[in-house]
Amino acid sequence: MDLYEYQGKRYFARFGIPTSPGETADTVPDAVAAAGRLGYPVVLKAQVRVGGRGKAGGVRIANDAGEAGLAAGEILGLEIKGHVVRRLWIERASDIAKEYYASFTLDRAARLHLAMVSSRGGVEVEEVAAEEPAAIARLHVDPLDGLDLERARTLAESAGIDPEALDGVAEVLVNLYRCYVEGDADLVEINPLVLTSDRRVHALDAKVTLDDDAAFRHPEWEELADEDDYDERERLAHEKGLNYIGLDGSVGIIANGAGLAMSTLDVVNQVGGSAANFLDIGGGANAAVMASALEVISSDENVRSILVNIFGGIVRCDEVARGIAAAIESVEISSPIVVRLDGTNAAEAREIIAGLDREKIVSEPTMLSAARRAVELAGAGTGGTSATDGTSGAGTGATGMGGSTGTGATRPS
Ligand code: GDP
Ligand code: MN
Repeated sequence: MDLYEYQGKRYFARFGIPTSPGETADTVPDAVAAAGRLGYPVVLKAQVRVGGRGKAGGVRIANDAGEAGLAAGEILGLEIKGHVVRRLWIERASDIAKEYYASFTLDRAARLHLAMVSSRGGVEVEEVAAEEPAAIARLHVDPLDGLDLERARTLAESAGIDPEALDGVAEVLVNLYRCYVEGDADLVEINPLVLTSDRRVHALDAKVTLDDDAAFRHPEWEELADEDDYDERERLAHEKGLNYIGLDGSVGIIANGAGLAMSTLDVVNQVGGSAANFLDIGGGANAAVMASALEVISSDENVRSILVNIFGGIVRCDEVARGIAAAIESVEISSPIVVRLDGTNAAEAREIIAGLDREKIVSEPTMLSAARRAVELAGAGTGGTSATDGTSGAGTGATGMGGSTGTGATRPS
């Protein structure tokens, strides 16, 4: 789960990472009132779960109530990378001397945590990372060792952090590491981490991606979830407990197991189609789950055909087929369904499918032939959305520098 900046800053505060005092506001009058309480100058910031708000006009400084009202009016309702701004974070403006960058994420390949620090943070950090990778200092941290002040300071030094900011940055790094580990985050990123003209170091931005698999340890996370943020299909799926990610193609996909679901996406692409979603029904491919899955997919008006790809290992294919049969009785489905069932009791399963209304549902023996049929039924192929695109908007850091964290499609939740 990605946090909004204001939530990320509150999360930081629990671990002693300094931020500027601020408030949220959802309307222009509330924004002006909040700015008045905080004291001018203030900065008004769009709250959307994507980076690059500064460049998109979503971060504005205001010196008085008139400017605050104007800025609030212009930012609220603004669309940034497809996200409409409905909330502002307003904080005391900082007088910036230097902008740095700091983050922690998991380096899966190295099986270690990875710290990245740069003395050249700010809105251009992606360009810096691309053109001058040496400007980003990297340090692998073994979870068994953790990160102490001394190593944090050495890291800050190797990143070229100014001498007067070294102690402050080192302290932030140690606390940010705690926030990442004890706070169960997949990614924590501060860009910019600033040195102010009065020589204080604090976080001007906050990007926190929580590890959803740790939610059971954090009942307090529940209030951070924002149902408005899901698209309608994802909300419905979430309610039904399905692992679902909406994409923008025309073939709806249901598979058991995330690996099979992703392979199915790839095969659909391979034969010239594009997937409308990623839906993993897990091990319990029974009638109720199948009905929920078909219902969610049918609620997507871009769907032209549905491909059900089930491998019967523990679950028996004939049970799945009966589940599908029951589901198509109970759910209104306008798209044709192509079913590929293989594994335990596949032959019985195909007989069951063959006995159903042929108009609505057909069975194919292989994944490839099923994908071809589904794409054909969906009409013209419209090019690919790959399983590994991470199209859901979840996933890597705002700057894209948290490259080793999972993409949306590989971490459905
Ligand atoms: P992002 O563009 O979505 O990453 O939003 P940020 O919160 O990082 O803000 C973008 C830029 O706005 C920062 O890099 C700063 O240069 C600028 N900015 C943000 N807050 C302040 C502030 O309090 N004072 C000043 N002078 N600039 C700010
Ligand atoms: Mn930023």
